[in-house]
Amino acid sequence: MIPLLFTLITLPYAPNALEPVISRETIEYHHGKHLQTYVDNLNRLIVGTEFESMPLEQIVAKSQGGIFNNAGQILNHNLYFLQFSPVSADNHQPQGAIIEAIIRDFGSYEAFKAEFEQKGTTLFGSGWVWLAADKDGKLVITQEPNAGNPVTKGLKPLLTMDVWEHAYYIDYRNRRAAHLQSLWQIINWDEINNRYLAK
Ligand code: MN
Repeated sequence: MIPLLFTLITLPYAPNALEPVISRETIEYHHGKHLQTYVDNLNRLIVGTEFESMPLEQIVAKSQGGIFNNAGQILNHNLYFLQFSPVSADNHQPQGAIIEAIIRDFGSYEAFKAEFEQKGTTLFGSGWVWLAADKDGKLVITQEPNAGNPVTKGLKPLLTMDVWEHAYYIDYRNRRAAHLQSLWQIINWDEINNRYLAK
């Protein structure tokens, strides 16, 4: 069987487009080197296994060990990089179904952001903080260590912040909380709303 090879996603913005929140240098390392390595590793590891030619989300849901770590990191980073738009864009306030659900499930947008930042700041070590939806559309915030993704809990991932140091150390050094707080300026809420509404 010819393996279905995964490819590095193309960013829908220039490498410097998210400045000053995320620098060109961070984007070039994070997308061009860290994510590329996960793609290369997964393509090597799945050859001759049951995961060859399986869709990425299915690999994440069914695998363990090295295949899970690399597949999870590809899925996580694809969702991460595709959720941003430049500071000057007009989509940084949640609109439509997603803001109605945020207010219903967290009380307010401000309360949601505070809980999300707190869970990202207190996640010990490397990992990801997620906004996800259950099968009824109820929103939850989850902390996932290492390569974790809420799909392994049957939840739909909507928005994420990467708290691995490689995501922020060039620009923010050890100031994870300041980095997380700054990311709201580049979240593309049209994209998050579309993910929430997608079947
Ligand atoms: Mn990362």
